[in-house]
Amino acid sequence: MSASVRSVPETDAQSNGHLLSVKHLVKHFPVTRGALIRRHAGWVRAVDDVSFNIEAGETLGLVGESGCGKTTTGNAVMQLEAPTSGEVVFEGKTITSLKRDEQRRARRRMQMIFQDPYGSLNPRMSVGKIIEEPMMVHKLYESRQDRRDRVQEILELVGLSRTQASRYPHEFSGGQRQRIATARSLAVEPSFIVCDEPVSALDVSIQAQIINLLQDLQQRLGVAYLFIAHDLKVVRHISHRVAVMYLGKLVEVTNSDTLYERPLHPYTRALLSAVPVADPVVEAKRERIILPGDVPSPVNPPSACRFHPRCPWAQERCKTEEPLLAETGDGHAVACHFWREIEDSGGVPPVSAAEALRGGEARGG
Ligand code: SF4
Repeated sequence: MSASVRSVPETDAQSNGHLLSVKHLVKHFPVTRGALIRRHAGWVRAVDDVSFNIEAGETLGLVGESGCGKTTTGNAVMQLEAPTSGEVVFEGKTITSLKRDEQRRARRRMQMIFQDPYGSLNPRMSVGKIIEEPMMVHKLYESRQDRRDRVQEILELVGLSRTQASRYPHEFSGGQRQRIATARSLAVEPSFIVCDEPVSALDVSIQAQIINLLQDLQQRLGVAYLFIAHDLKVVRHISHRVAVMYLGKLVEVTNSDTLYERPLHPYTRALLSAVPVADPVVEAKRERIILPGDVPSPVNPPSACRFHPRCPWAQERCKTEEPLLAETGDGHAVACHFWREIEDSGGVPPVSAAEALRGGEARGG
């Protein structure tokens, strides 16, 4: 897999090698105040200049705390919400600049699976109809029989039986409904699927089954995923690369093993330090990085490095100069002025969360 993080926009011709290229994506939502007369009161800066590429057959995990902008990124990539600015190039076409009907055609090969499979399945339609419907919308098969044959094949592909085509969503468990939602997305032969927290509503044992299914489908069909999740353990199992997002920005992107073995960004270090380790001896010795305070509001994000009010390593420069996502080598990109110094010092925070909460002034942060 290529390193795929760039700070400079590519032309369409240069994007040809990537299945999906997201370039400087921005999504801001207006904030209004007033009960009778609505007045503009600012912007929620949900996604702010996010760029990444995904290759055919690859999974990019997108992780971060709730409200960091990862779902908005997925929606903007799918054009479910029009981006404020930036480009999305898919299979060589800049879909952000296409007209609506052209966009619909181009989007056939981009599909989405949601966290709540029940909410995305029409309860009045049989499973067979649910899977057949997108084939009809996109006029994929000549005859009804061809469509029905394909529905049955897809049901088997996702681990359900052909006979279940006549049943209704409420007759299935949560994991089975997620299989049905996956089958519906496969009906139009996509090359790319945005999976938005697809297992977070499921029991742990069922989560593993759905992850295995998605991996199996990737091997058989060569489909690529943008896999959005807040659980770093889940993301590791399915992702080739992982992008970490904080308050509308990507702060670190690298291949999956490297992220877990050598995290460079202080936010990634903190997230990983909160993931329990199975070995009790290792777990007892581990240094937890507790971040002070809550994630700030995206309406008025902190200056320069948005992580600086919570970062144990923050210095004066972090408040005035934004760190750009830059390659450190081997496709590992990080947005931090001091990643090298932090790594050289062993990654132990110079101040505790309690000290940081008492105020960063003393340390100039
Ligand atoms: Fe922390 Fe500064 Fe790096 Fe931001 S740039 S993550 S505040 S050390």
